Amino acid sequence: MTAYEAVIGLETHIQLNTLTKIFCACKADSWEDAPNSNICPVCTGLPGVLPVLNERVVEKAVLLAEAMHAEVQPVSYFDRKNYFYPDLPKGYQISQFDMPIALGGSLELPIPAAADPQGKGYVRTVRIHKLHIEEDAGKTKNDGRERQVDFNRCGVPLVEMVTEPDLRTADEAAQYLIRLRQLLRWIGISEADMEKGNLRCDANVSIRPAGATYLNEKTEIKNVNSIDSVREAIRKEIERQTHEVEEGHAIKAWTLEWDQDAGVLRKMRSKETEADYRYFREPDLLPLHISAEWKAAILAGFPERPLERRARFMREYSLPEYDADILTLERALSEYFEAAVKAYGGDPKKVSNWLMNDVLRMVNEQGLNPAEMRLTPQHLAELLKLVDAGTINITTGKALLQLVQDSGKAPAQLVEEQGLAQVRDDAAIRAVCQKIIADSPNEVAAYRGGKETLMGWFVGQVMREMKGKADAKLAKDVLAGLLK
Ligand SMILES: [Zn+2]
Repeated sequence: MTAYEAVIGLETHIQLNTLTKIFCACKADSWEDAPNSNICPVCTGLPGVLPVLNERVVEKAVLLAEAMHAEVQPVSYFDRKNYFYPDLPKGYQISQFDMPIALGGSLELPIPAAADPQGKGYVRTVRIHKLHIEEDAGKTKNDGRERQVDFNRCGVPLVEMVTEPDLRTADEAAQYLIRLRQLLRWIGISEADMEKGNLRCDANVSIRPAGATYLNEKTEIKNVNSIDSVREAIRKEIERQTHEVEEGHAIKAWTLEWDQDAGVLRKMRSKETEADYRYFREPDLLPLHISAEWKAAILAGFPERPLERRARFMREYSLPEYDADILTLERALSEYFEAAVKAYGGDPKKVSNWLMNDVLRMVNEQGLNPAEMRLTPQHLAELLKLVDAGTINITTGKALLQLVQDSGKAPAQLVEEQGLAQVRDDAAIRAVCQKIIADSPNEVAAYRGGKETLMGWFVGQVMREMKGKADAKLAKDVLAGLLK
């Protein structure tokens, strides 16, 4: 039996988070607004008006191109993509066609062990074909009885980014979207929320005998609005095509629509070819010139990319992949970690543990942003040093995180003010141990009779008596001596 491999390319539409639309001053984000409340003669295409390009759109597109290692073109052009649809009042969409803003690029995509049939994990290189700027169309809502057209989204800025057909599995496609979403938020150009439609994805899927280099006829999957759905839709389409081919049927170039509720793909209109759009240069806009100076100004302070930072954390701080992955989920968190490591000067893995287990729990429970926390990276470092020095024990240290977050005071100050320092006074601990032994004749007898696991209970009693501040190791040593 022939083994098949899938060949998948993704087209993503990324809504840029500019305040205003691409060619007019209307508000761009209408997610919570009433239909047709953010429109004007420009974005609804009334006669006699001219589009004016929003420079913020160009800047954000250049940032994305840089993030993808794509080559920004010194000159690009706007074109009209002509088609008729009720949500497109102008009868055309301003887009870019043969001379887009950026070409090429790639993403080195780490595929986790869980998504690898061999269970090891690997890297998939996904090449980028091109990035272009365009305006969004409106939206039609169909409630079954009547159709309502909402033009709020007309003129909302988008970047369309097209990959080469380099992805091989549904899981790889999902990983691509996960990493793209991370990257878009990292460089601050899009909210990248698929549920809200500001990251949209169409997938082109075909299959061929494993190892072949030619491309077979492909289908296009549209209308998928979550990463899980993209994975599921592609998986189903690969299964369908494999079945068709094994039955001796040819694959037809269908456009398929994902039905979220039913979890099935349905056939849409037969695929239009690009010629149908009768592209021509947009006569109302000048060519887009991006000078070397402008590009340099946009890219000044361009951050280390998330996957590069992830790799560096593993290399420089000897962190496991798991830690590096979590600590670079968000840029603010990665910066928090690195600032804490620098202030602490000790083992980075220890900082990672405290951050991932305790600080992140607090962040998640209380809906905080790491960048806005009152518990600063310097506070965390100071707290760890107090634990290392034995000034406080770990239990106190964990409680102290919340105290610092609530008060904004430095850990050492709180230890001083609230008397949280660990009791390491041998005599004080000995006195408490003696009292507990005197009060617990049954446990003492059992312990001396061989039930040594009771040591934990004795230590617990000491800690309780001393309000958690005893040096547990010292208490254990003293108890062991007394119980001999
Ligand atoms: Zn407008």
